[in-house]
Amino acid sequence: MTADTITPDQVQAIRERVAGLMPQVRADLESLVRIPSVSATSFDQAQVARSAEAVAALLRAEGLDVEIVVEGGRPAVLGRIAGPPGAPTVTLYAHHDVQPPGDDADWDSPPFEPTERDGRLYGRGAADDKAGVMAHLAALRAHSGNLPVGVTVFVEGEEEYGSASLPAILDRHGDKLAAEAIVIADSGNWAVGVPALTTALRGGVRAIVRVRTLDHAVHSGMYGGVAPDAVTALVKLLATLHDDQGNVAVTGLDEGVAPDLDYDEARFREESGLLDGVALIGSGSILTRLWHKPSITTIGMDVTSVEQASNTLAARAAAKISMRIAPTQDPQAAFAALKDHLESHAPWGARVEVTLEESGSGFAADADGPIYDEVRAAFADAWGTPPVDTGIGGSIPFISDFVARFPDAAILVTGVEDPDTRAHGANESLHLGEFERVCVAEAILLARLGARHG
Ligand SMILES: [Zn+2]
Repeated sequence: MTADTITPDQVQAIRERVAGLMPQVRADLESLVRIPSVSATSFDQAQVARSAEAVAALLRAEGLDVEIVVEGGRPAVLGRIAGPPGAPTVTLYAHHDVQPPGDDADWDSPPFEPTERDGRLYGRGAADDKAGVMAHLAALRAHSGNLPVGVTVFVEGEEEYGSASLPAILDRHGDKLAAEAIVIADSGNWAVGVPALTTALRGGVRAIVRVRTLDHAVHSGMYGGVAPDAVTALVKLLATLHDDQGNVAVTGLDEGVAPDLDYDEARFREESGLLDGVALIGSGSILTRLWHKPSITTIGMDVTSVEQASNTLAARAAAKISMRIAPTQDPQAAFAALKDHLESHAPWGARVEVTLEESGSGFAADADGPIYDEVRAAFADAWGTPPVDTGIGGSIPFISDFVARFPDAAILVTGVEDPDTRAHGANESLHLGEFERVCVAEAILLARLGARHG
């Protein structure tokens, strides 16, 4: 059910306009990449301020009303421009801060000097997410003087540093960000030539489990074999969290199913570095396991180190557990299920205490309805093939902030990345051909969303 809100001629005209705009879009992207706007504290925050100013200037040049917003964190840029009377508003999100470059020696060209090789533009932020910023500008420029919708552009300045002040920004400026659709251009496509919408992100729960079996540590020769030690009790308890196949054994957790995309075991083994002979755990397709089922990992333990070990029954031991949860799962309910499981499986009556350290919601897009029809059609116009729905096994915490603040908006998670982008790593790069298609798709999306109301 492809929506036919605009004609093939209009699509072709937008395609040609964007093609003509790309040299300047790329030049502006390169200027942004030259500003080392690393939001991590140990870097010069004057550069983040400079990059906010640069983004603000680009938006002002398109006629937007622009303010730089600081609510206790790094500067974000907020720009607004009205559409025709009665037209909806679309909010476009990206971030202008970047990850630290790491060791310069790992880069084949300087991280803050954009360099083209084989159709890709290399540089820190060349993809994540300064290309997201420029995709929004390209879409605005494609409709310069004749914008089909009202547009709010929100370019965050601390996404790579945890978005700590985003809740405060949404609290104080949220009314200005309200929109029918919110495009979050900070993810990626499935492959070069295969566009994607990111419709599922897992959430997470981190908890600490503490086990006690004795009032104090005692001699293993005097008491071993009769009194249980806390480390063995903890290990036995942790072992109950999975069944023999490696599926999470905690009951009552949400599970979903991933779309049927090509992703085989060989690719997973290669990408994860799994050792030969080590089996995959869990059941269901690999993508279902990664995107839509819970997983549990013990990420730390407080036990006596091998070096410090003596012949003693430990009285106490602790472990930190990281649980990834299905996109639809309520994190509080997931923690309650985990706590219940651990308390009810305490071996030998050991004292078990479970505390929540942190939790965050996932994201399960309601990926149906007229706006999703328009975005799928816009992607099909730009690539010649419709987008696939993809997930991410990790979370993008700020997306749940948007979902919570704007429950009625369609949240469209798009992006410029492809499997070779290496966001956050050395030699981060942008595929320039795909970048143009991202810009075309976003320009067509604005036209389609405007035409729906036209
Ligand atoms: Zn990003």
